[in-house]
Amino acid sequence: MQVKPRQLDQEVNRIPAIVSRGITHFYANLKAVDNVNIKVCLGESVAIVGPSGAGKSTLLRLAIGVEKPSQGQSSVSLKPSEIGAAFQEDSLLPWLTVSENICLLHQLHKKPITKTELGEIFRSANLEEFKNYFPWQLSTGMKQRVALIRLLTYSPRLYVLDEAMANIDDFSRFSLCDELYSRVVKSGSGILFITHNLM
Ligand code: ADP
Repeated sequence: MQVKPRQLDQEVNRIPAIVSRGITHFYANLKAVDNVNIKVCLGESVAIVGPSGAGKSTLLRLAIGVEKPSQGQSSVSLKPSEIGAAFQEDSLLPWLTVSENICLLHQLHKKPITKTELGEIFRSANLEEFKNYFPWQLSTGMKQRVALIRLLTYSPRLYVLDEAMANIDDFSRFSLCDELYSRVVKSGSGILFITHNLM
């Protein structure tokens, strides 16, 4: 019998994007993750909070299937192209300008973006004067902001954020958070994010 994804989560009637059960992971003798269950549904935001070295990044990689757990299992119901990730390291391509970096995911996945949409993105993100800059001409916080804006522009069904706002100033961080949460409410996207910052 085939079970439709919607039927897997009858309690709140949401579609589970990630279901991890009993995941444990060792690096040699070090137990980095110990028997964790996680479920992330579309239309909700799940945070993994803890101090540095607690195993958050490892858990995230195991949950999204980038790494295989030593024990337990994780399943992801979305296609890779429906998941967008941003990390503490900005992951911008150094030989492309800010504008080209932002359009990159659209080009790779053949999702068209108009000049008007792009102009609007630069205006709302206060990046207009930097659109032709290369990543090495930006501050660490600005690079992280560009990487997040690239993700918001691409608009994946599931956002996976690993300390992706760690270097962003509070003003930009709060407005990016507002934008992300409005995606959850309006478009029913899901967010899995890890942070050691409780603010
Ligand atoms: P956090 O994200 O909470 O800071 P990590 O998941 O990065 O924690 O790391 C948890 C523990 O696993 C740390 O002790 C770290 O040294 C170890 N660790 C993480 N990745 C590796 C790896 N690829 N090889 C060996 N040890 C690792």
